[in-house]
Formats: sequence, C-alpha cells, structure tokens
Amino acid sequence: MSKNPFLFNTHDLPRRAGEMREYELTIDSHEALGFEVLAIAADEPIDIDLRIESVAEGVLATATIRTQASGECGRCLDPVFYDVDETFQELYEYVEDPRQARKKNKPGKAGHKRAQKSEEDDLDEDLVRQMDGELIDLDGPIRDAIILNLPINPLCSADCPGLCPDCGIKWIELPEEHEHAPADIRWAGLENWKTSTAEGGPTGA
Ligand SMILES: [Zn+2]
Ligand SMILES: [Zn+2]
Repeated sequence: MSKNPFLFNTHDLPRRAGEMREYELTIDSHEALGFEVLAIAADEPIDIDLRIESVAEGVLATATIRTQASGECGRCLDPVFYDVDETFQELYEYVEDPRQARKKNKPGKAGHKRAQKSEEDDLDEDLVRQMDGELIDLDGPIRDAIILNLPINPLCSADCPGLCPDCGIKWIELPEEHEHAPADIRWAGLENWKTSTAEGGPTGA
C-alpha cells in the first residue's frame, strides 16, 4: 500500500469563492509519525476535522488533528502517552495547466522532486502547495503539525527520578537509603583508587 492516506478529494466542493464543506475523517493506517522515543504508531487512528473553503486562488484547508503518541519515559523507560491536538491552515492553489505546475515548483529540480520524501518539501518555505487535480495532499501539514509539537524528551512525569544507574531499578521503588556496596564490580576499581590515594592501600568498607 504505497498510496498516500492523506490525499483528500475536494470533488464535492463547488469552485465558487465562499463555498465550504466540512468532514470528519479518521486515518487508521499510515506510517509511524514522530521520533524513536515518541511517535504516532502506524495503526494509531488520526482523527481529522477538516474544513475546506473555496477561495479565489484555490482551496483553503483548515484542520484539527487528534491522535495519541506513545513512547517511553526518557528517564525510567515507563510507557508514556501523549495526546496530540493540533490545528493547521493551508492554502492549496489551483493549477490550471499541469505544465505550469511543474514550472512553478522549483525550476531545475522538478525531475528529482517527485522521488524525494515529503519531509524535504516541507522544509522548503518557498514551496506553494498546489492542488493535484481535485486532490489536496494533507500529508505535509499533518506531519508538521504533529512532529513539530511532540516533546523530544518525553517523561512519565516532570519530576520522574529515573533509574538507579547501578541496578537499573526505579528510584521510586527503592528504599531511601538505597546504595550499592563498594564491592559492586563496577565500583571496585574506583574504590581502590580512592582508598589507595588516601592511605596507600585498600582498607575495605
Ligand atoms: Zn519516568
Ligand atoms: Zn541500585
């Protein structure tokens, strides 16, 4: 399924400025969106309240996106969930002549452009979004609205104390006086160094 699930057909919108249509869409199959630590899973439904309006230059799309990102706490690795609720507005210009469309998109790069990932297109601020016949491609704006607003370092709670670096157990589950004996193999070298510096030989703890 290489079909872009975010392509939307504006066929039902009359091409008269001022006309408007509203839709409630749910996209439940798409590629994962986000980062390794926090992402909208590929099968996580994305709800879209979409309003499209006819304006002089094309179709103005206004959308609210609701979905849920899941990942893990950057400190204790517990699962975290993050509610996404974002809005965007995007103008898609009419293209009267498809040959014009190709000219308008970045001259010289048009040939390569098609094969490139849409993320790159989104970074190009000069790019005017255009209609593809009656289709508008919501992929870029949806991606931006979601990814640009996801926390990069998700936490289960702002004051999550994380894990003990020695045993990997959550601090929250450990007794207050929890510490590791110097005999712990990872600390043994350091302990010896400390005591030998102070007294010229290991003394034990
Ligand atoms: Zn945590
Ligand atoms: Zn520990």
